[in-house]
Amino acid sequence: MPTKPDKQKFALVTGASRGIGKAIAFQLAMDFDYTILVNYQSSKEKAEAVVKDITDNNGKAETLQFDVGDLESTKATLKAWQDENPNAIIEVIVNNAGTNKDGLFLWMTETDWNSVINTSLNGFFNVTNTLLKPMLHNRYGRIINIVSLAGLKGNAGQVNYSASKGAVISATKALAQEVGKRNVTVNAVAPGFIDTDMTSDIDENKFKELIPTNRFGQAEEVAHLVSFLASKKASYITGEVINISGGMYS
Ligand code: NAP
Repeated sequence: MPTKPDKQKFALVTGASRGIGKAIAFQLAMDFDYTILVNYQSSKEKAEAVVKDITDNNGKAETLQFDVGDLESTKATLKAWQDENPNAIIEVIVNNAGTNKDGLFLWMTETDWNSVINTSLNGFFNVTNTLLKPMLHNRYGRIINIVSLAGLKGNAGQVNYSASKGAVISATKALAQEVGKRNVTVNAVAPGFIDTDMTSDIDENKFKELIPTNRFGQAEEVAHLVSFLASKKASYITGEVINISGGMYS
């Protein structure tokens, strides 16, 4: 009887056109044999440049555009992709896409509340819920959620952002308990200040005094932690939140 061909293995990184997601996509491509799905919302050229960077360095990657906050579009895109790639399995999901709409809660609009919750929290649901069944059948998987110190300690001016990240932290812990038996681990990574577009308005010189290591972190430093959690070496770590903040909050 002919043996079944081996599955083609993929890792999906949401919001991988820029910043932390871009660094994670590159690092996973360098450290593993996965083909990386470089998701983005609107930065097509930047996402294509990430793919080029990976392939120029002998990795494998392709872009996959969808808005993680839009359930229908997320499901439809991932289903179409799976139909085109019937032998593919997404073994690693990095829920990284996120946004912020900062301002004091007193003045916060419903739009700014909903938009941040929708991208981070509903984005986690939309992507993970869509991909979980094949991952459980595969009996191996890694789900890594990029949260924030704001979700652990709460940040003034970021009630919406803190709430969205705090909710994903709780979801991480709960889902880890549901899927551990199938060798699927679920962890969260909580960065402090990382040098990306999201923090470009923040004066590092002013804020670095609050950070024991006296500097903002680099996206690549977060990527190495995510890569470890995505590896088989991290098989006994699940339901955890790991801070990467230069010692700001521990
Ligand atoms: P960033 O530089 O602003 O990049 C955001 C990325 O997310 C972009 O690739 C963007 O795609 C994508 N994205 C945004 N909304 C999306 C959506 N609805 N669907 C699909 N993709 C979407 O942000 P970053 O600093 O790298 O942050 C990455 C993650 O780390 C976020 O979850 C953030 O909350 C978290 N974090 C960041 C820091 C920090 O200091 N930077 C600290 C703690 C936590 P487009 O380019 O297409 O818009």
